[in-house]
Amino acid sequence: MDANILQCYIDAGQVASQVLREAVKYASHKVDVPVLELAQIAEARIIELGGQVAFPCNISINEIASHYTPPVNDSLKLQKGDVVKIDVGAHIDGYIADTAATVEISTNKHTKLIGASKKALRNAISMTCAGTNTKDIGKVIESTINEMGFSPIYDLTGHSLKQYSLHANVNIPNYAASFGNTLLAGNVIAIEPFATYGKGTTRNGDAYIFSLNKRFEKHIHNESNMHSKSLLGDIYKQYRYLPFARRWLEDIVDSNIDNYVATGDIIAYPVLHEISGGIVSQFEHTVIVDESGCIVTT
Ligand code: MN
Ligand code: MN
Repeated sequence: MDANILQCYIDAGQVASQVLREAVKYASHKVDVPVLELAQIAEARIIELGGQVAFPCNISINEIASHYTPPVNDSLKLQKGDVVKIDVGAHIDGYIADTAATVEISTNKHTKLIGASKKALRNAISMTCAGTNTKDIGKVIESTINEMGFSPIYDLTGHSLKQYSLHANVNIPNYAASFGNTLLAGNVIAIEPFATYGKGTTRNGDAYIFSLNKRFEKHIHNESNMHSKSLLGDIYKQYRYLPFARRWLEDIVDSNIDNYVATGDIIAYPVLHEISGGIVSQFEHTVIVDESGCIVTT
């Protein structure tokens, strides 16, 4: 990997991990923390530390596995006993760090569930090097979580990362999948085990996170198209194909993105609820694969 690119990944990783640490501390040392405040503080802190926001801060509570980010008028507050997943993304020049942790607010009833996804991530990282097959990583994640008495979430995966691309072409399954990809030195991947008391699949809820569809690429160099699709043009200029929050679009006059979701120009990422209502825990790190192991950037 080019030394400058490597440095961007490392720097983005330091920003994201520091912001996540601070967000976890903020969530757990106060009562009734507003979710909107927590997300906005985390996103602002990424910029303060010299990064760019790679995606809206996800704050997913209890049976919500991922993709909740508060809307602009959100009144949700963290409650005693909540199991809260905080997922932070930072990038530098498009080189992304994606990292998540779970915190239980003021109680200790779910320590084992939280420990299961944490241990699964640790085991996954320790086996990752050039030549590792992603299905074998999934197998280790699944068995670690099963041995602790829980289920992984089968329909959520980790993913490879590329410049300005959060979910590139390789998935890292959270179970022993029948097919996988062999990792190569220089691959950048996010590994993110989810553990739950529930059945281990998800259903879709409302969407607060979106991204421009990559098929928009063909319109980008067409001036008249950029004009007639000003919302899409503005989104491209600000976020390219990285995810954005509806609440970030306040400044844009035409913020009615639902029509573009209907036409497919914008992709919606709905909130993912565990299908049986089981509480979910998650940990995530971004790593760069090398010959002897991997560098954890976050
Ligand atoms: Mn993440
Ligand atoms: Mn991820």
